[in-house]
Amino acid sequence: MTRILVVEDETSISNLIAVNLRRAGYHVVCAYDGMAAADTLEKEKFDLILLDVMLPKVDGYELMEYIAPMEIPVIFLTAKASVTDRVKGLRLGADDYLTKPFEIIELLARVESVLRRYHKTESILKVADLTIDTGSRMVRRGDTVINLTKKEYDLLLLFVRNKNIALYRETIYERIWGGEYMGDSRTVDLHVQRMRKKIGWEQKIVTVYKVGYRLEV
Ligand code: CA
Repeated sequence: MTRILVVEDETSISNLIAVNLRRAGYHVVCAYDGMAAADTLEKEKFDLILLDVMLPKVDGYELMEYIAPMEIPVIFLTAKASVTDRVKGLRLGADDYLTKPFEIIELLARVESVLRRYHKTESILKVADLTIDTGSRMVRRGDTVINLTKKEYDLLLLFVRNKNIALYRETIYERIWGGEYMGDSRTVDLHVQRMRKKIGWEQKIVTVYKVGYRLEV
């Protein structure tokens, strides 16, 4: 299981991150100040660190210097959107940063992308009755290969990577089609409905009233 250390002193934000990462299938440990984070890092191994910049005792930048030799990828969480802060974080060796407040889907996407860059994601995903090989983009149920179009596959992966989270049609559209959503929901609905029928997940990918869809597993 992929292990993530969340270093954030604001408990409401820390809890929100932890709950959603756990829901997405990650093992999460929280530390609430820089010293506690350093202690935890001495005792346990992690695949990724989410690091708040403004922390009591030892701040995120100072902690980053401690973390750097460990070669664990780091995503900075910052309330500051200024360019100098971002540059400072990246120069210290951070792999990415997220400006607070951020949406959960954005957080999960960044986490996924940094882990992928470090080859720390498992290429075989087992979700409910399906096996998804993200290397060969092959979807199977048992020994039967399910043929999906590129868009359907991308859609499936979006749901799998955000399982149990309601995804807005706008979000789905922007992620899969890459353009701005113009309020026409039929493209999204058509593709989601075809995809879930093909893979037999009509009961798992549910319609969320006035929002969009959610994969329930
Ligand atoms: Ca803080």
